[in-house]
Amino acid sequence: GVRVARRYGRLTLASHEEEHSVDVDDMGQDLERVLLDREQIDARLAEMAAQIDADYAGRDLLLVGVLKGAVMVMADLSRHLHSAVEMDWMAVSSYGAGTSSSGVVRILKDLDTDLTGRHVLIVEDIIDSGLTLSWLLSNLRTRGAASVEIAALLRKPEAAKVDVSVRYVGFDIPSEFVVGYGLDYAEKYRNLPFVGTLAPHVYAD
Ligand code: 5GP
Repeated sequence: GVRVARRYGRLTLASHEEEHSVDVDDMGQDLERVLLDREQIDARLAEMAAQIDADYAGRDLLLVGVLKGAVMVMADLSRHLHSAVEMDWMAVSSYGAGTSSSGVVRILKDLDTDLTGRHVLIVEDIIDSGLTLSWLLSNLRTRGAASVEIAALLRKPEAAKVDVSVRYVGFDIPSEFVVGYGLDYAEKYRNLPFVGTLAPHVYAD
């Protein structure tokens, strides 16, 4: 398959192999470039987890993952935490199969957990316009939680339509459509172990 190789501190697609290459096999031809590799993501998640451990010391924490995109972040972030947290999941729809925000949020799967008195940390993959999270924040805040904060791996500051205060941010990235590490395009590419952009032909197909 096509190889992804490190160059000048950023990962770019390359036809030859270099030190930190990652084999992405059949998906390689669909990718344009790699924004964040696995090691960068994991190192940042470890830092975020250390901060979360410190901030919530002595308190029971409920992590709320937003399906489906946050599955990888939840799995990897939570494994860096030192306290025994609880996890629950919500599924909301904000985007269709395409790449633009509708602003309409619908609950597809609600939490199983009663939030009364709980310290809640929403775990998200990405904040684009911020519409989904600001809706989710106000929704969860009506349920009697002691606190509701947000941890997001990625944020696109230039795309913000509403101001959402995010306590833990992994990386600020440009306003490009990205896939991988839980993020999809038409339900594909979630299993890429890094965050990258797609080649134009993928959208044209
Ligand atoms: P927002 O409501 O902040 O505009 O968008 C939030 C949701 O839109 C994210 O949870 C994610 O599902 C989707 N989204 C936003 N930007 C991207 C992107 O660049 N790539 C992918 N795959 N999904 C995105």
